[in-house]
Amino acid sequence: MDATTQCPSCAASRQSIVRDGHFFRADDAKAVQRYRCKACGKKFSAATFKPTYRQKKRRINSTIRFCFASNMCPRDMAELVGVNIKTVASRLRWQAALSRRKNREYLRAYLDVQGPIKCVQFDDLITFEHTKCKPLSVPVAVINDQRIPLGFGVASIPAFGHLAKISRKKYGKRDDESRVVREALFEELTALLPSDVCFKTDGHAHYRQLIKHYFPHAEHQVFQSDRGAIVGQGELKKTTFDNLFSINHTFATIRAKVNRLNRRTWCTTKKPERLADHMDIFIDVFCDRLKLLNLAPRTLQQRAAKQTTEWG
Ligand SMILES: [Zn+2]
Repeated sequence: MDATTQCPSCAASRQSIVRDGHFFRADDAKAVQRYRCKACGKKFSAATFKPTYRQKKRRINSTIRFCFASNMCPRDMAELVGVNIKTVASRLRWQAALSRRKNREYLRAYLDVQGPIKCVQFDDLITFEHTKCKPLSVPVAVINDQRIPLGFGVASIPAFGHLAKISRKKYGKRDDESRVVREALFEELTALLPSDVCFKTDGHAHYRQLIKHYFPHAEHQVFQSDRGAIVGQGELKKTTFDNLFSINHTFATIRAKVNRLNRRTWCTTKKPERLADHMDIFIDVFCDRLKLLNLAPRTLQQRAAKQTTEWG
């Protein structure tokens, strides 16, 4: 919403809004226009409707966004841009909300430009919160060949292998949310994908059930999953041709670019929600990096404005 079109207090129309001086914003050295509503007498400014409203460090936002998708840890980011680490932590959540909206917009624009999606690859990335005894599963769906992430979820899963017993003893029984989260993701996918889409996955039993349930007319191609190459973060495969290249390469990119998902890192996830936030920022930057669509903030605004006029 633009400050000049509606009063934020009484929703009076443009005619009742008059300019009322300005103030100087030290943070980015800009003069900001103030407005007054003649109907209710309340004052506001051009900054009132911006996502950065009441932020004191606007200039760091674009750097922080980029750094979160470039394998940097919050402490280094804080040092780089000259703020407290708590500011970086709060910007993670703030940027994630913006990125989430942008990612949705990006997918909508992609479908508009490229038409319906024909093939999708799907798999789970395994990570953990705080300790390997508390693993997390991150199911991700990407467009075949293009590698654009269509959606993801974060689910707690019980520890497996030799850690299973230790984990139960130390932290008690851990819920397995992976099925619920995958179902929620497929629910989302039904809105994005046509019914005759093709899925490429590994031989996981639950994938077959999900695809049968949510996409009964879809084709499902199952490929054996190979051992990872040492340089490939465990996700890039040794073999000459990888049928699940799109998803594996996306996972390898995520592992290399999202600092908390690096192998053998000490920057671990402390809360699953923050991992989801971090993933959203990564996807935002990653889609820009792929350069498949040019969706600068300005073009997004124009698109949104065009859509509202179209919808009346
Ligand atoms: Zn008003």
